[in-house]
Amino acid sequence: MLTIPWKAGAGWGAPEIKPYGPFALDPSSTVLHYAQTIFEGMKAYKDANGDIRIFRPDMNMKRMNTSARRIALPTFDGEALLELIKDLVRLDQHWIPTETGHSLYIRPSLIGTQKAIGVGPPNEALLFVILSPVGPYYPNGFKPVALYGTTEYVRASPGGTGAYKLGVNYAPGILPQQHAAQLGYAQNLWLHGPEHYITEVGTMNMFVVFRTDDGGYELVTPPLDGMILPGVTRDSVLTLARDHLTQKTPVAGLPPKLTVSERPVTMQEVKAAAQAGKIVEMFGAGTAAVISPVDRIGYLGEDILIPTGEGGMGPIARAVWTELVGRQTGAIPHEWSVVV
Ligand code: PMP
Repeated sequence: MLTIPWKAGAGWGAPEIKPYGPFALDPSSTVLHYAQTIFEGMKAYKDANGDIRIFRPDMNMKRMNTSARRIALPTFDGEALLELIKDLVRLDQHWIPTETGHSLYIRPSLIGTQKAIGVGPPNEALLFVILSPVGPYYPNGFKPVALYGTTEYVRASPGGTGAYKLGVNYAPGILPQQHAAQLGYAQNLWLHGPEHYITEVGTMNMFVVFRTDDGGYELVTPPLDGMILPGVTRDSVLTLARDHLTQKTPVAGLPPKLTVSERPVTMQEVKAAAQAGKIVEMFGAGTAAVISPVDRIGYLGEDILIPTGEGGMGPIARAVWTELVGRQTGAIPHEWSVVV
């Protein structure tokens, strides 16, 4: 693992790569009381030539700094941290699985370690990075998930912290997740306001594909309104769809008649469109699963059925997934994939 200490006044200390193992933390450490903790998640792949690739790590470095700033943790030089992460990954490269869909998960984290009972910006912090090999989310083909349109709990609110990758956003989601699981759903679909605007799902951003009246498609995701985590996968889906439309980088399988929208979507709109046969598909997008198709949404006591297409995935999701995975693994050469 990689560790880098920070002290107010002195700044960042010397980085150290050492065997994975426990930390000694003072019981009064502010992280243990006031949730001064942020994290990131990205994946390293080994390509067919044995080269190691990380997908758009600059985005994660930027987002981590944005998160740090939000809870008054120290910010850092993202490019410098990325170089250290590359060193760590190179050193541990025998842990990168080479089977299809497998990768090495990279988890950078930053915690406040001031020994103090008072609430304030910490005068000591610790940045660390750990790694873990991970398998594919869907080892035996895509299995669409059922979502629970959650009206009893909220994940984020205007002016809150939903747009940042803070530890504090995740603990309160566990009880609602258990509740959804008891009802037979895989994840919470987080809704906002009395209109029940769709925000995001579990640890993924949400996409809906509508059939348009002119026989085309509209690919919609909710806008970054401060309540939604700006996902790297979300941005990648939007960018590759837009680059396809401008013919900058055509994506195999994406239709020419496609509108890409970042706009609010209510559950009412989804329900009405589903009943009218105007939903082509819905899917989540995030680092863990890449693309996760949805086949059902529990909403106010009834199930809204969502089409999933052949093999558990609709046409847009499949094209996007194929392109994304190609770019991540190096099978499709692209600047998003950074060779370590
Ligand atoms: N929303 C939430 C709440 C998440 O935790 C994640 C995972 N980081 C995402 C969306 C997807 O973001 P990304 O594509 O960067 O993994």
